Amino acid sequence: MSDRHDHFETLTVHVSADPDPATGAVVPAIQMSTTFKQDAVGQTRDGFEYGRSDNPTRRALEAAIAALEGAAHGIAFASGLAATQNILYLLDPGDRLVVSDDVYGGTWRLADKVWRRYGVQTDAVDLRDLDAVAAALAGDGTAPPARMVWIETPTNPLLKVVDISAVARLAATSGALTVVDSTFATPYLTRPLELGADLVLHSATKYLGGHSDVIGGLVATSRDDVAATLRFHQNAAGAVPSPFDCWLVLRGLRTLAIRMDRACANAAAVATWLQRRAGVARVHWPGFPDHPQRELVERQMRLPGAIVSFELTADEPVTRRLAATTRLFTLAESLGAVESLIELPAAMTHLSVAESPLAVPPGLIRLSVGIEAADDLIADLEQAFVAAGVAAGVDAG
Ligand SMILES: *Cc1c(COP(=O)(O)O)cnc(C)c1O
Repeated sequence: MSDRHDHFETLTVHVSADPDPATGAVVPAIQMSTTFKQDAVGQTRDGFEYGRSDNPTRRALEAAIAALEGAAHGIAFASGLAATQNILYLLDPGDRLVVSDDVYGGTWRLADKVWRRYGVQTDAVDLRDLDAVAAALAGDGTAPPARMVWIETPTNPLLKVVDISAVARLAATSGALTVVDSTFATPYLTRPLELGADLVLHSATKYLGGHSDVIGGLVATSRDDVAATLRFHQNAAGAVPSPFDCWLVLRGLRTLAIRMDRACANAAAVATWLQRRAGVARVHWPGFPDHPQRELVERQMRLPGAIVSFELTADEPVTRRLAATTRLFTLAESLGAVESLIELPAAMTHLSVAESPLAVPPGLIRLSVGIEAADDLIADLEQAFVAAGVAAGVDAG
């Protein structure tokens, strides 16, 4: 980047978009070459030698996520879980990992089904409870102190908010690394490294890509030692994104701020409507004025996010009917794109954690609110409520 940009919105548009010095192209090129000419043995141009080790399009994306997170280093992977796997390579056999008790199901599966076999023990803790965090980090007679704490905030699908600064302080005191999976917040809403985290991770498949057309993962850190280990494993284990995938994420990033503004405003309208709709038992959304963590939400998040989950007073068949009856909200997994999605976590995204400590309420519905018109989204939900047989009308109160 040639200029300093004071506002995040400006940075998202201009980061990694300096005109190409050779052609003047205002969009980075998709460089497909897998190998790069050396001018003499071992003498590369700008460090490029082989496409798994480094690639110009990937380097542009890595610079972009570093800039957006205020980090010294950005590192790109083929998926959010490939990024997760790479961070877990920082651990050794015998180490302990502490995770949010409603961490992303795939993160739990990787830790519990794969890393456990290699001698890494994972404990799930409610990271809102700082006494429990301190105890889990310290370990006891049988468990060594934790090497890493894995925060997700807001959590999926119950949208609990974790105090990143407080957990990072406790972790630093006990010598553990703090990782924040910031997929739901994006750097537009929360900047975890500024709050004391050592690493921040994104499933770029979600808001950063933003159009449901690319799988990707990104990590940012300002720790040189950690970045060097991650880079070593990025190349050694090889779960790298394609140049085209990197380009799609770069393209998505340019509209991140404006997409998040609209999606968060729509989520506020939908959550408020749900809270007043007859037949709704509970709505989970961090932006309600009476949310128990309101002070933290305001301190840590620019906006309260665009994921909303809710439970009906009716039983599960009605819930399933409702989720299959919306027209604008597509019944599908994933989240964070321009189009609105609806799903039942217990039967879909969170099926893999069904019998685990991370099991979710069976009747919970999760919405990923997109950037359509809020009135159309609410009208779609209303017709689905009626079609599913949930008593019509909005509660007077
Ligand atoms: C989707 C997701 C992941 C995994 O990312 P993939 O790109 O699907 O591998 C990790 N964390 C969170 C919070 C997610 O939503």
